[in-house]
Amino acid sequence: MPPSPSRKPPANAWHAFQTIVAIAILTATLFSLWTPTGLFTVDNRDLQLAFLVSEETPTPMPTSTPSSKPRIGILVGHWGKDDGWVCEDGTREVDLNLRIATLTQQELARDGYTVDLLQENDPRLIQYQALALVSIHNDTCEYISDAATGFKVMTALASLQPEKASALAACMVDRYANVTGLPFHYNEVTTHMSSYHAFDEVNSITPIIIIETGYMNLDRLILTEQTDLLAFGIYSGILCYIRGEAVQ
Ligand SMILES: [Zn+2]
Repeated sequence: MPPSPSRKPPANAWHAFQTIVAIAILTATLFSLWTPTGLFTVDNRDLQLAFLVSEETPTPMPTSTPSSKPRIGILVGHWGKDDGWVCEDGTREVDLNLRIATLTQQELARDGYTVDLLQENDPRLIQYQALALVSIHNDTCEYISDAATGFKVMTALASLQPEKASALAACMVDRYANVTGLPFHYNEVTTHMSSYHAFDEVNSITPIIIIETGYMNLDRLILTEQTDLLAFGIYSGILCYIRGEAVQ
């Protein structure tokens, strides 16, 4: 069956439309006479358009709602400050951290979160407020032992709301281990982690953890070739905390 031809509007409808256009132009012209010269030139044009649209298709006006997307912070370790660990082949910790952080940001943004990528000494860290702040680092390029593989998670020792940071850490350990298959190091916390500057800078409502996502020596392959997997592990850990999911 061929498509039916479009119907022409009846003559009286066309006359009604012409009348509406005439009234709109008249209204706008009168309005412009009543206002100081030049001040409302753009507004008048908007008025005409709004008038025509509202007469022809009574669609509701869009409401402007303030951006209220939940906020999450991802701190890129060493970014804007130094290189972090640098391996003999030139691989820099800061580059790995930034790749992992950027992929994590993209995952969270797809779910509608506002994600701040923060530099190591970002001025926004002072009194920073978010659902969670995760700082991403990696561990040494040097070979230490066959056991020097896996990840570490550290929370602030003197947090005002230790239960929130602990819940975030528990979620991160569980989900990151499950997603990546990397072992978790319970008892190996370096001093720069326990005295981390950002712990004291962010607002006390913001739970903050550091994750060292792997060793740049034995975990090199997964860090460089499966970066998206590591990012998905961090993303899963953050969502687990925000949604209050159970941890094994
Ligand atoms: Zn680091």
